[in-house]
Amino acid sequence: MSIHAQYQNVCVACDGAIRYGDLIDKDPFTEKWMHATCPEDKPREVCLECFMEKAANGACGC
Ligand SMILES: [Zn+2]
Ligand SMILES: [Zn+2]
Repeated sequence: MSIHAQYQNVCVACDGAIRYGDLIDKDPFTEKWMHATCPEDKPREVCLECFMEKAANGACGC
């Protein structure tokens, strides 16, 4: 059963952040929380000029 997160947490499945309001499930074996659907975001590309992560659209503010 999925519920909306009441506080921030870390997903045991993907190690990603669970934010308030995210839909999450409890792992029945570990009783820890995970995303109902883990985000499939790949790590963002890093700008070779400033070494900051680029925005989702690939642009960099530098
Ligand atoms: Zn996850
Ligand atoms: Zn940059």
